[in-house]
Amino acid sequence: LGRRINGALSSLSRAGTLDDALLDSTLKEICTALLESDVNVKLVASLRTRVKAQVKAALEADKTGGGRDAQKRNVVQKAVFDELVGLVNPGVEPYKPKKGQSNVIMAVGLQGNGKTTTCTKLAVYYQKRGFKSCIVCADTFRAGAFDQTRQSATKAKVAYFGSYTETDPVVIAAQGVEKFRKERFEIIIVDTSGRHKQEKDLFAEMEMIGEAVKPDMTVLVLDASIGQAAEAQSRAFKETANFGAIIVTKMDGHAKGGGAISAVAATQTPIIFLGTGEHLSDLERFAPEPFISKMLGMGDIQGLVEHMQDMAQQNPEKQKEVMKNLEQGKFTIKDWREQMGNVMNMGPISKFASMIPGLPDMAGSEDEISSKFKRMIYMTDSMTSYELESDGLCFLEMEKDGKTPIRTNWRVQRVARGSGTSVGEVEEMLFQYRMMASMAKGAGGKNGWLSAMQKMQ
Ligand code: GDP
Ligand code: MG
Repeated sequence: LGRRINGALSSLSRAGTLDDALLDSTLKEICTALLESDVNVKLVASLRTRVKAQVKAALEADKTGGGRDAQKRNVVQKAVFDELVGLVNPGVEPYKPKKGQSNVIMAVGLQGNGKTTTCTKLAVYYQKRGFKSCIVCADTFRAGAFDQTRQSATKAKVAYFGSYTETDPVVIAAQGVEKFRKERFEIIIVDTSGRHKQEKDLFAEMEMIGEAVKPDMTVLVLDASIGQAAEAQSRAFKETANFGAIIVTKMDGHAKGGGAISAVAATQTPIIFLGTGEHLSDLERFAPEPFISKMLGMGDIQGLVEHMQDMAQQNPEKQKEVMKNLEQGKFTIKDWREQMGNVMNMGPISKFASMIPGLPDMAGSEDEISSKFKRMIYMTDSMTSYELESDGLCFLEMEKDGKTPIRTNWRVQRVARGSGTSVGEVEEMLFQYRMMASMAKGAGGKNGWLSAMQKMQ
């Protein structure tokens, strides 16, 4: 998908002026790629309309540089990125388990979606973070369900509850949760049964278990490979189970994740984790920006951060600063420069350049990429300390609302002159910086995905 969208955007920057026909054909290519990744048809159609409006408004507002190649490409790319991030970010905070109390989490979803596996992964995840965790197997429908729980919970060294004789899942769920509440377990995960279809029986059973255990959070476990069916399935579960979070499994397979986007958009419920394999540790925190960035082939900030963490172990001094700032969710142009410097020191740049958000066009020989990086460093060398310590907004002129950038200003011309580069190049660099900075924001703080990721190792 990333390659396809990048291809469409590259042909856009190669072409001359961006007229309606060219914008239409580029958007058509991007939308086809999204549809093939199983993003819902209606969502793609409305995304297309909104991206088009956003691009036109941006280009019309920009009387000075609208025709510039880098800018056209960036405007379209940014619009697609923003729209997709908006789709997977319902702006709803998921439930956060609290220490020192019982947090009941109930997993629902169709059979085979990965509920039982995910329940154990979750128990391990929270156990690692100091929560006393356990699993209740309330699946009496599938033969051998309790054995499956018993085996995986034993392997994971997590407490479990279930029965070989009791056939009423509501009774088991109630008994198990009561027992574990008494024993002061902090994370109590209730695994329910699924059926092959969305049947009345299943929904009735789910409702009764829900009433019996009063979950603090109900999680819909969704298989990434169900594709276009994601919308209907998640809607149906939302109506009866009113889940407050989604976990998308089997992201390691052939599925391209579009189904996940559709499920969020249909139910306005956040994704909290992705299942990325059959092992108990194959569970990743979900964050909208890095997910879309990777999906669009716009850089893999998680991969980059993981690499930086490896580097930090080998060379603590060099990496400390950038990591510290990232952890605080702060990311100035100066940090961006340091980051580029670090990437240059990491070994072959060609390998890591593609991981940096906003640097999609970094194909080329080691020398070419290296010289592009050097030019970006020259640009930052021509900035004043006020500009370097800023978030880059001082380079932009804003609409009256103070939020919508209209065009870049005289500072950009000065930097271009000072560094022997062009205005277009500086604009592109600033755009790339803003992409990275917007992701860094979501990374920082105690609840950011960065700290979640670090704790996970
Ligand atoms: P349930 O019926 O919803 O409880 O699903 P299970 O937990 O039994 O999982 C069904 C199958 O999917 C099993 O073979 C799991 O190993 C597999 N599975 C679950 N999660 C993942 C995942 O994230 N990646 C991969 N590759 N397989 C998974
Ligand atoms: Mg199961």
